[in-house]
Amino acid sequence: MLAAVDSSREELVSAISQAVRIPSVNPRYPGQVYEEVVGSEGEVSRLLAGVYRDAGAEVDLFALEPGRENAVGLIRGTGGGRSLIYNGHVDVVPADNPENWRGGDPFSGRVDGGRVWGRGSTDMKAGLLAQAFAARALHRCGVRLRGDLVLEAVVGEECMNNDIGVSATVERGYTADAAVVSEPTAAALPLAIMPVSPGQLWFSVAVRGKVTHAANRGRTLYPGESEVPVGISAIDKGILIYEGLRRLEQQWGFSKRHPLYRPGQFTIMPGIVAAGTRGVQFPLFVPEFMRTEYLVWYPPDDDPAAVMEEIEGHVRAVAATDPWLSEHEPTIEWKLHWPANAPNADAITAEMRLAHERAARDTNLAGPAQTVGFPAVDDATWLTLAGIPAISYGPGDLGVAHADDEFVQIDEVLCAARAFALLAMEWCGVAG
Ligand SMILES: [Zn+2]
Repeated sequence: MLAAVDSSREELVSAISQAVRIPSVNPRYPGQVYEEVVGSEGEVSRLLAGVYRDAGAEVDLFALEPGRENAVGLIRGTGGGRSLIYNGHVDVVPADNPENWRGGDPFSGRVDGGRVWGRGSTDMKAGLLAQAFAARALHRCGVRLRGDLVLEAVVGEECMNNDIGVSATVERGYTADAAVVSEPTAAALPLAIMPVSPGQLWFSVAVRGKVTHAANRGRTLYPGESEVPVGISAIDKGILIYEGLRRLEQQWGFSKRHPLYRPGQFTIMPGIVAAGTRGVQFPLFVPEFMRTEYLVWYPPDDDPAAVMEEIEGHVRAVAATDPWLSEHEPTIEWKLHWPANAPNADAITAEMRLAHERAARDTNLAGPAQTVGFPAVDDATWLTLAGIPAISYGPGDLGVAHADDEFVQIDEVLCAARAFALLAMEWCGVAG
């Protein structure tokens, strides 16, 4: 069976290259014109559907938004085994600066140096095709599984449109005893097993000041004793909150820990600062507002409501130390929550480790499997929340995902395909 996977190397590489050449940018990604971009996700799903058919699967192509088809391939088991989902997303993030890419084409799908290059190679067309080719190798070897194997290529992951992607497959009735999402690895060594991911929150803090002519700056800094302030700089006040949240973030470096993550993993990142006077980009006014947008990563086992309360309480406490801010409280707006993935997945994690070690034996990736936390979020969350314990494991390196000159190592793809084939046999059981 492993020989069957290995012998498909050329075809697998050319399928990844072909998939990368389809620029399946998520049409809802900020800055994209939906009508111009929509449709390519469906094309990648159809490419995957072709491999699913070759693997003996019943194929279901369906879309909740036109042009955004998901592909599901169901390989029915003979009965009596555990079922398994192999999942990945077909959408990619934009690559709007071709001049930053070697060769000038982000979607070249070029194969050289033992790598496939291009946007979506690592994140995550290689993982999707490794899963599909694993199933095809089983079929070609005449292996009949006892439990169902469900192959899924879904849209919408990069913008949390899980309602039309992974969650739509669950709604449609596809479920299993466990799932593996083939996201790229983020670890010192390739192909780590990643049973958890952090939660992600996006929020903004807005502070307002009191606008006045910039000539009054001196009076705003040094008001006379009884003087009502002629103006208040929203930037000066906003920086108090900014620094306060930086101190909380530093504290998180020591206080928020998880055994599968390096210390300091969980953060409250100020990602965007906007300030000034509304509508006027000219510093002739004492600034009227400051708004900071934050991205938070919290540990998999933390309660998101408690994390939000901790942050809000901290902002209130900082504001209370300043006369202006205690009377003009900063406004906090929570904009997005991607929950953590913290499944009860010991069984599938253990089987995935064994499958990886057997797959890697006698290759340059041989050695004990590593288990680490995934540092980003992925669709495993939505499967776990739907009652399907889901972990992540896949070829590629998260360090080059969403980056210029993205690539995937072909050796890793082969090893992952071998591991997926072995895992399906062990987890689902083999008939006869
Ligand atoms: Zn991804």
